[in-house]
Amino acid sequence: MIVSIPKGTKDILPSEVHRWQWLEDAFRDCCARYGFSEIRTPIFEHTELFKRGVGDTTDIVQKEMYTFELAGRSLTLKPEGTSPVVRAFIENKLYAEQMPAKYYYNIPCFRYEKMQKGRQRQFHQFGIEIFGTENMLADAEVIALAMDYLSGLGIDDLSLRINSIGCPNCRAKYKDALQNFLRPELELLCDTCKDRFDRNPMRILDCKSPSCKEITKNAPRMMDYICEDCRSAFEELKENLTALSIPYKIDTDIVRGLDYYTKTAFEIVSDKIGAQSTVCGGGRYDHLIEEIGGPPTPGVGFGMGIERLLLVLDAAGINISKPETCDVFIAVLGRAPMAQALKTAQSLRASGFKVLTDVMGRNLKAQLKYADRSEASYTMIIGEDELKKGVVTLRNMKESTQKEIKLEEIEAEIR
Ligand code: ATP
Ligand code: MG
Repeated sequence: MIVSIPKGTKDILPSEVHRWQWLEDAFRDCCARYGFSEIRTPIFEHTELFKRGVGDTTDIVQKEMYTFELAGRSLTLKPEGTSPVVRAFIENKLYAEQMPAKYYYNIPCFRYEKMQKGRQRQFHQFGIEIFGTENMLADAEVIALAMDYLSGLGIDDLSLRINSIGCPNCRAKYKDALQNFLRPELELLCDTCKDRFDRNPMRILDCKSPSCKEITKNAPRMMDYICEDCRSAFEELKENLTALSIPYKIDTDIVRGLDYYTKTAFEIVSDKIGAQSTVCGGGRYDHLIEEIGGPPTPGVGFGMGIERLLLVLDAAGINISKPETCDVFIAVLGRAPMAQALKTAQSLRASGFKVLTDVMGRNLKAQLKYADRSEASYTMIIGEDELKKGVVTLRNMKESTQKEIKLEEIEAEIR
């Protein structure tokens, strides 16, 4: 091997791509049922967008971005999906259209992270966003779509955790309280968290290291500091989830840890896929669109990791069957019937059949072997005799029967 695949990335091979397609089709259908439209944005953006959108103090911006300089510009491969959608919303003046705006996307994301199970450097996300309303009905709808999608896949043992992370009004007081609590333990925190102490202390609550978890066990929680407005929003969210019959747990450890993020934060978690257990993470960001230069517009959404979704499906033993790839294999015996074979193949394909023909000039025996390996439902043989009589020999591979039929009767026979 002269050049191998970069660490943290994976090929998705033809033998497994049907699993991805199945998830993607189901996601598209689900989003349509909730009235979301797809949006596609470029794979790279100006670095500044993520500094503003994700936040200068976050791990992503501090050390995980794939950033490169070209022609005097700093560009970055998408580490997440929300900021690019916000940029497109502003740049294309989509805010002038009817509100709320409801978008979904399916994107690759790039983060230079330490490799672990469920953590790659290029991974993929489904995401949705609702812009233009502060109403907790939107938060409930975002969560309902995620849960609906997952249960539609046959996954029903995931748990929904919700939290309120307040707003800039109530958060300042909380940050002080949290830093005061953590200060005496500062030396015992992991290196990443030492770093987070000044720039983004809330994120320490989110640390997966057992020693940090132990230290923060009794730390003050945002929930005890939220203002009246944030508290009543949280009550409304809970009522809406109850009305939707969606069970939830309150988990005061969930943080987004950024000033633009407000009120609702939630995660959907599996206990079957190891330490990287969050399949879906989302929440509200009422100041993000303004931060990126748009008119003040509230928003809420989620990002769902597709690789982790596949791990959950594996753990649950959900088998996604491979679709049939070949209805008919057309084998040709001799040179003369070739034109007829090609014509028949094209006409069957035009009618929607999956048709294989020999493109290697193999002899009949080898063609039939190939047909067998391709798991064709039918094999059709056209030789000189058949050509003269205007028929083909049609072999039903499952039943091991064969008969001669007229060209014009093929479709009716194999449908
Ligand atoms: P985590 O706690 O796992 O680091 P995060 O808070 O960084 O997650 P988000 O930015 O909210 O994650 O991304 C949404 C989802 O994308 C996550 O819940 C997860 O399923 C998935 N995800 C995030 N980072 C990775 C990665 N490096 N590899 C695979 N999936 C990922
Ligand atoms: Mg992360």
